[in-house]
Amino acid sequence: MRMPAIFVGHGSPMHALGQGAVVRHWARLGGELPRPRAILCISAHWETDRPAVTDLDPPPTIHDFGGFPAELYELHYPAPGSPELVAELQHLVPELRRDTEWGLDHGTWAPLRHIFPAADIPVVQFSLARAFDPAGHNTLARRLAPLREAGVLIVGSGNIVHNLRRVKGSGGAPHEWAEVFDAAVAERLEADDADALIKYPALSPAARLAVPTPEHYLPLLYVLGVRHPEDRLHFFNKFIEMGSLSMRSFILHAGGEEYEL
Ligand code: ZN
Repeated sequence: MRMPAIFVGHGSPMHALGQGAVVRHWARLGGELPRPRAILCISAHWETDRPAVTDLDPPPTIHDFGGFPAELYELHYPAPGSPELVAELQHLVPELRRDTEWGLDHGTWAPLRHIFPAADIPVVQFSLARAFDPAGHNTLARRLAPLREAGVLIVGSGNIVHNLRRVKGSGGAPHEWAEVFDAAVAERLEADDADALIKYPALSPAARLAVPTPEHYLPLLYVLGVRHPEDRLHFFNKFIEMGSLSMRSFILHAGGEEYEL
């Protein structure tokens, strides 16, 4: 069986506290996914010089944000780590650095505490290496594809559109460029056009404002890297929050199971 792979638009850390449609859909997703042996998450919030993987069991919960309510800093996601998955990753990517300082940042634990609230599935985080361009990230990701056949759920956590300088208050209407770029990416995902998605600055003039820095977009290229030609594509959370944060998320799956969220 081939495990699904998912891209999660994570948005504001406040979603970790759990209200609204985003979180309801995360909770439903957990009920619809097959149970993985382990989770490998590529989060927008961990950048390193070269590829690295968290090698702590359990990995600590990292509160990598400032200026939020105290209760957000009290949340912990006590999932175990997985020395076995780290060893498999080292086999697939021999140059991988085993990191013992990072842990699970909010790109990983904010969605996972709603998707898998029991926190009983081992979680390993994989970094975004600054040395790579978008094509380099996608090429690296292709080497992770065999993990899907081995019961590992691969999760990319970022946002297709992410511009914090242009955020509006909650309830603010989406910027036009945010809607244009989000739709262009969705259309290329439907067409299974990885090449166009790797070359995203050329996808639309809206890319300049939609992706002012690459780190929230790049996790999507990891999910594309493990895409199987026969995968089906299912979108969820297809909306833009605070004007400039696309929450659009998707599941790539073999088709044996149905997703209704
Ligand atoms: Zn983020």
